[in-house]
Amino acid sequence: MRAKISEIFFSIQGEGIYQGRPQIFVRFFGCNLHCRFCDTPLFSFREYSVEGLLAEINKTFSFCRQVCFTGGEPLLYARFIREAGRLLKRQSRQVFLETNGVLPDKFEIVRDVVDIVSMDFKLPSSTGLGNFWREHKIFLEKARDKDVYVKAVIACETELQDLVKTAEIIKSVDGNIPLVLQPEFSCGDKVSRKIDYFRDIALKYLSRVEIIPQMHKYLGIR
Ligand code: SF4
Repeated sequence: MRAKISEIFFSIQGEGIYQGRPQIFVRFFGCNLHCRFCDTPLFSFREYSVEGLLAEINKTFSFCRQVCFTGGEPLLYARFIREAGRLLKRQSRQVFLETNGVLPDKFEIVRDVVDIVSMDFKLPSSTGLGNFWREHKIFLEKARDKDVYVKAVIACETELQDLVKTAEIIKSVDGNIPLVLQPEFSCGDKVSRKIDYFRDIALKYLSRVEIIPQMHKYLGIR
């Protein structure tokens, strides 16, 4: 079994409620979506076997216990992740999954080996795509017994109705699941007022709503 991997590197988590946590990032090549704000440079890849990936992690990054599978969309390689996750857990490592949250059937394949799920809700007015409300709800129901939080990018174009729909869906699964509102970096301070207002609205539905920018971009690190 092999997977296309764009890069493997050590850094700190730059987004969401685990911001600042040291992680080994495994960035898979390719994505099933084309979000308007996508900033992930995916130009090249190397093919790895599960054993090859584990060997590289153990050789270069033995000091770090948490492995973040990211992309692109890592769930395009669900069976590979299940096998790699099984071996990583034998080494007492934690598996962190960053996903666009639209492939619930693929999530089912990796569920047992994943500890933490950073799940995006793709708001149509932010992404410029259609909606994935149905997929997001099914996905969140499958992930609810994990350490899961939802992340939504708030762009200049983001509409309130999409934020409300997001909050309603999360509440229908579990109102205690945290929601992170992430301002789109390129909007600068144009989204500041709106995002504050959105947080107040979301808090009418959910117990934990946080505004967290992408720290790595401000620090100029990967
Ligand atoms: S899901 Fe993520 S990687 Fe895929 S296009 Fe959207 S922002 Fe880019």
